[in-house]
Amino acid sequence: AHLNSALAVRDQFPAIPAGWHYLDSAATAQKPQAVIDAITRAYGHDYATVHRGVYERSAAMTASFEAARAATAALIGGEEHEVVFTRGATEAINLVAQSWGMANLKAGDRILLSQLEHHSNIVPWQLLAERVGAHIDVCPLDSHGRIDLDEAEAMLTEQHKLVAFAHVSNVLGSILDAKRAAELAHKVGAKLLLDGCQAAARLPVDVSAIGADFYVFSAHKIYGPTGIGALWARKEILDSMPPWHGGGAMIDRVTFERTTYLPAPSRFEAGTPHVVGAIGFKAAIDWVNGIGLDALHAHESALVTECRAALRNVPGITIFGPDDSAGIVSFALDGVHPHDIGTILDDTGVAVRAGHHCAQPLMDYLGVPATARASFAAHSDAGDIEALVRGLDKVRRIFG
Ligand code: PMP
Repeated sequence: AHLNSALAVRDQFPAIPAGWHYLDSAATAQKPQAVIDAITRAYGHDYATVHRGVYERSAAMTASFEAARAATAALIGGEEHEVVFTRGATEAINLVAQSWGMANLKAGDRILLSQLEHHSNIVPWQLLAERVGAHIDVCPLDSHGRIDLDEAEAMLTEQHKLVAFAHVSNVLGSILDAKRAAELAHKVGAKLLLDGCQAAARLPVDVSAIGADFYVFSAHKIYGPTGIGALWARKEILDSMPPWHGGGAMIDRVTFERTTYLPAPSRFEAGTPHVVGAIGFKAAIDWVNGIGLDALHAHESALVTECRAALRNVPGITIFGPDDSAGIVSFALDGVHPHDIGTILDDTGVAVRAGHHCAQPLMDYLGVPATARASFAAHSDAGDIEALVRGLDKVRRIFG
């Protein structure tokens, strides 16, 4: 009796041939044909630069680029002028750290992160903290692998200027109570940054309902192209932030004596932007909206339930994270290195991720060098889980 959920979109993914089971969508999502077509059209038919041209083609491209910004904002419940296009979530966090952080943090201030953060939500804050003399505190996890907000509440002080948490863990799939995190941060006068890399592709997100101050995510995890992502920030915060990268497209007037800058978001988009990336981003968002994030979340939740139930029957397995994780299941097998799991599964046509998942402090906390991770997407189905379980049988036969 399968609790199977099928969105029946698998045939829209040309890079997923029959018999291949792609369970690494948390690293990067495969692309539906609609996204590939939009990118091909943008380069092959509609191509020109944005913002500068007085000719029709460039004006049309500018309109498409700005429509992508509007779609990106709408996806997470923000306003169009609150979205800055970046190279991805990593660059978005570095932007906040170097612009807002350098302007607002001083020696003795504190930043609260959590034990489960991706390196890209740790290292930019360490660079900032070293520069200004701030301190980083680490919020522990509860027994299910969720950020323990009771602990966060006890740890937060007036010295804390920023709380930066993953909305969904890329290793455990655990979902943050983001609204409560915002309330706790604001109670001490701190801002809340949410790393929405995994959440934006898997859950309905509404930054205003949450009360977040910054939200970051990458297009490539939400069925869009690599090389583009978004920073959303509350308007009054974004307007107050100094420029970060200097160059063309971000200035108002340049003289050798003095240069003035455009308002946000343009002020943060120096140089020719990833125009076609933005168009692919919008195509991906349109595609996801066609399914609906509620439906997508329900689909992935059903797969997680089915997967965890199936994995529990595998002898010697440890399954990490909470039962209601969002589309992601990490596990380990007694006596088998996760890399060997990954390699043998690959031989059986199952692609999982094995490693530290850019979350070494979380591996230290779990007491493992690495985990194997299966992660789902719109195209995933019960057949992928069956193939995973068959593959793990083979792993166990090989390792006796
Ligand atoms: N945060 C989380 C939770 C992630 O899963 C990832 C990607 N693995 C990142 C940040 C970094 O995203 P990117 O590499 O696209 O900048």
